[in-house]
Amino acid sequence: MSTLPSPALPDAIGIKALDANGVASLVAELGEPGFRAKQLVQWVYGRGAASYAEMTNLPSGLRDRLAGRFALAAPSVVVRQVSADGTRKYLLKLADGATIETVGLPKDDRLTVCFSTQAGCAMGCSFCATGESGLTRNLGPGEMVDQLHVVARDFGQRVTNAVAMGQGEPFANYEPTLGALRLMNSPDGMGIGARHLTVSTCGLTSGIRRLSTEPEQFTLAVSLHSAVQTTRDRLMPGVKGVPLGELRQALVDYANATGRRPSIEYALIGGVNDTPAEIDALVVFCRGLLIHVNLIPINPVEGTGYGRSATGDIAAIERHLTAEHIEVSVRSERGADIDAACGQLRQRSTAAPE
Ligand code: SAH
Ligand code: SF4
Repeated sequence: MSTLPSPALPDAIGIKALDANGVASLVAELGEPGFRAKQLVQWVYGRGAASYAEMTNLPSGLRDRLAGRFALAAPSVVVRQVSADGTRKYLLKLADGATIETVGLPKDDRLTVCFSTQAGCAMGCSFCATGESGLTRNLGPGEMVDQLHVVARDFGQRVTNAVAMGQGEPFANYEPTLGALRLMNSPDGMGIGARHLTVSTCGLTSGIRRLSTEPEQFTLAVSLHSAVQTTRDRLMPGVKGVPLGELRQALVDYANATGRRPSIEYALIGGVNDTPAEIDALVVFCRGLLIHVNLIPINPVEGTGYGRSATGDIAAIERHLTAEHIEVSVRSERGADIDAACGQLRQRSTAAPE
């Protein structure tokens, strides 16, 4: 586990580079009693404090030493867009100027945040807007937690669910992402149940295997998009090196180790991965796996040339999988009018700043 800020993260992000273990090491290094770490976590991650000065139950000498050593930066909202369905998308500027997007999805008394784990993404999936501009940098744990605070404040509501489905590949930034999920889960942090915290991967099996050894019951989603190797390699060049057989075995082992049911994300692209041969391959891949398939009508991204499967085809595919005893649902689209739907997040917004 990381202790002090990872060298990959810019100094400007200050204390947000630390996870709870990092905070505990810092407090020990400063010669302070252990309970100070809990208090610091409560202020920084639980409440999203804006200054050390407001941490009134910490001795002023400690506050001064912290302030002298670590910035307490928070993201600023550069653009805020509201969809007709209530979804809100934020373009956030981080302490070093890097920008990311975050989405808030309200439904009944739930508020789900789709947060980014990296600024950009190096995986280059051909259907995803984030992949287009490449990777700028990894995010620190506190920068992920901050995204939930931005959304909670804007809605004036507690965040009940969070999904690492914004920009970035979470398992390419494993430790900070796990640190963030733990801070979101911790009663000292945001107090969100582990099962309400989902991490979505393009299929990095090392991360899937590692997640299965973690004690928390975080939910796993795996982006499959095709069970035909050549099609998948074309759609998702960043995971070309992971054969489908290896990915499937990682899912078998995950189920055996955890007893939990991951979801398989499958974005339907007309004429590409919705043909009978593709769906047959999907059925063969899923047969016998403890999984839930999420069919996602692909969200259009300019310049990709990909279009949606016809609605009738989507319903037929859903019925076919059900008949094959594969648990399946079609994900409803949210926020597409403001490009906030899956795969539409960019590092620069096309909307004007507020
Ligand atoms: N990098 C991770 C998590 C972020 S992407 C991953 O790939 O899983 C979140 C989800 O949006 C993934 O399932 C991804 O495949 C999907 N997605 C990307 N572009 C999309 C698009 N244009 N339409 C629908 N879903 C898309
Ligand atoms: Fe990265 Fe996920 Fe987009 Fe692929 S789909 S480019 S892994 S964010």
